[in-house]
Amino acid sequence: MIRINSNYQKLQANYLFADIARRVRAFQAEHPEREIIRLGIGDVTRALPPACIAAMHKAADELASEATFRGYGPEQGYDFLREAIAEHDFRARGADISADEIFVSDGAKCDTGNIQELFAQDVRVAIPDPVYPVYVDTNVMAGRTGAAQDGRYPGFTYLDCTAANGYVPALPTQDVDLIYLCFPNNPTGATATREQLQAWVDWARAHRALILFDAAYEAFIRDERLPHSIYEIAGAKEVAIEFRSFSKTAGFTGVRCAYTVVPEACMAWDEAGKPVSVRDLWSRRHTTKFNGVSYPVQRAAEAVYSAEGRPQVRELIDFYLNNAAYIRQALQGMGLACTGGDNSPYIWVDAGRDSWEFFDLLLREAGVVCTPGVGFGHCGEKHIRISAFNSFENVRTAMQRMADALK
Ligand code: PLP
Repeated sequence: MIRINSNYQKLQANYLFADIARRVRAFQAEHPEREIIRLGIGDVTRALPPACIAAMHKAADELASEATFRGYGPEQGYDFLREAIAEHDFRARGADISADEIFVSDGAKCDTGNIQELFAQDVRVAIPDPVYPVYVDTNVMAGRTGAAQDGRYPGFTYLDCTAANGYVPALPTQDVDLIYLCFPNNPTGATATREQLQAWVDWARAHRALILFDAAYEAFIRDERLPHSIYEIAGAKEVAIEFRSFSKTAGFTGVRCAYTVVPEACMAWDEAGKPVSVRDLWSRRHTTKFNGVSYPVQRAAEAVYSAEGRPQVRELIDFYLNNAAYIRQALQGMGLACTGGDNSPYIWVDAGRDSWEFFDLLLREAGVVCTPGVGFGHCGEKHIRISAFNSFENVRTAMQRMADALK
């Protein structure tokens, strides 16, 4: 008899986006004349930078001729892309990362979800709250928790992110082995300073723990004082893995390209207490279970770093940051406390009431769709997330409508 992995039965059905869609459909059926503006989802809306498109076309043409055709590429990614990443994303910022520590993939979602399988079943996992749900669900699927109770899984150490700590969690007061951090954060838009990340790195070193640092929104950082990579922090290479993505950086959400950095110095321990290279484990997993990102997509990603691509990508991010700044200012003008939106495409709003109630109010009174914060965890209750991924015109109209609705 074929039996299931019963850990899947522990998963709380994630009704969040289905519920949002259902409420929006019901509203539209009642009010077909109302035009809805969606500031809920985290998907980009603008076209790919021209340099990426040109590189993709050129690569497609290479595949049309036997002389330049390419079949399977290296699982870890082509050297041209790994070198460009190491040079521009790390060495240019003083972080000593080499190409052979970079693993190109088809998404940070897969990588942040898959990484946990390198570690023992009984490692103690620390999860921020609110959180990008992939970190939670993949550890539940792997059997590291009990069944959910009141929306939380026994077995996790939750790291509360609240207004009181500026949405940057305090260091754990109990021992943990695997720590998920995400800055700039989805959903709160919060960023971490050099000093805050240094404290986490020092804690991980002292406790022989490992930090999984999700920097998918790194390109939105404009404040020069903020670190872009955890490897700008002394000692991080021994205790941190970093995830990056071209999704939000360059509009690759549908194209699919990302990468994970696992430094050579990064170690975990075996049953006998002997150190084992995490990079070797990840390389083994990657080469066994993944067959590389397509050649045209990797050429398009390489173009992000070209002389033409760099200003185009910056303009793209600036466009969303301008939306975000406008949203934040408008919300503050409405008397709502919010965070994020200055080095991040997300604005996290203190709704001062039940987050679904506020969602319904905005939908009904303003025709604006946001994301209820409670969908990201307990600490998200009484908050909503607003995303800057839309046209400026829509953003401006949405803010005007919200201001009118909340008067
Ligand atoms: N990490 C975070 C924090 C995200 O918000 C997202 C996407 O929304 C991802 C990772 C996934 O990125 P990718 O498109 O590369 O899978």
